[in-house]
Amino acid sequence: MKKLHRGLYIGRFQPYHLGHSKVLEVIVGEINEVIIGIGSAQESYHQNNPFTAGERVLMVSKALEEFDIKSYIIPIEDVHCNSLWVSRVTSMVPPFDVVYSNNSLVVELFRDSDVKVVKTPLFNRMMYSGSMIRELMLAGKEWRHLVPDSVAGVIDDIDGTGRIQRVAGSDKEF
Ligand code: NAD
Repeated sequence: MKKLHRGLYIGRFQPYHLGHSKVLEVIVGEINEVIIGIGSAQESYHQNNPFTAGERVLMVSKALEEFDIKSYIIPIEDVHCNSLWVSRVTSMVPPFDVVYSNNSLVVELFRDSDVKVVKTPLFNRMMYSGSMIRELMLAGKEWRHLVPDSVAGVIDDIDGTGRIQRVAGSDKEF
């Protein structure tokens, strides 16, 4: 099968985990270049979105070193209006031939804009899940086996576990 040239994989990556890596293993066999969109780039220092866009860029770029593929990592802020999101994304990233996602809203919005979308398989979704990993961090339990070693290193360097525990302890919503 002829490879498509460039594919877009969008996620929040809060944090990047082994489920994302398994998806990328599949994707890199189908395309020559990958664009990783770091979604909700404006979010950070929140229990559900603890890591900044820059920290997530670092996680993804280190994790991508295990793949032999040209990559672009682009932070993308959310927009209030879902119907405008695809044009926001396409204005921020290099041209692409296909979007990879298993997020039903992402799939719906791109398909409605006549963009080719390939749904990606799920891998051990119970454990390879950002919310599960954040819960483990919050509870002070072991989470490092659920992310690539390089990503665990990034999170440890910024004391990510401590950050989640501290921001969860805040008594104010911002
Ligand atoms: P995510 O990090 O949870 O997941 C990224 C991708 O990996 C998804 O396709 C997901 O299905 C897949 N995945 C996760 N765990 C997996 C596993 N164990 N096995 C296989 N695949 C797995 O990120 P997300 O929530 O999908 O990110 C979508 C981003 O798009 C968000 O930042 C969201 O805010 C943004 N978005 C914004 C708008 C807007 O601004 N109006 C609209 C739609 C989407």
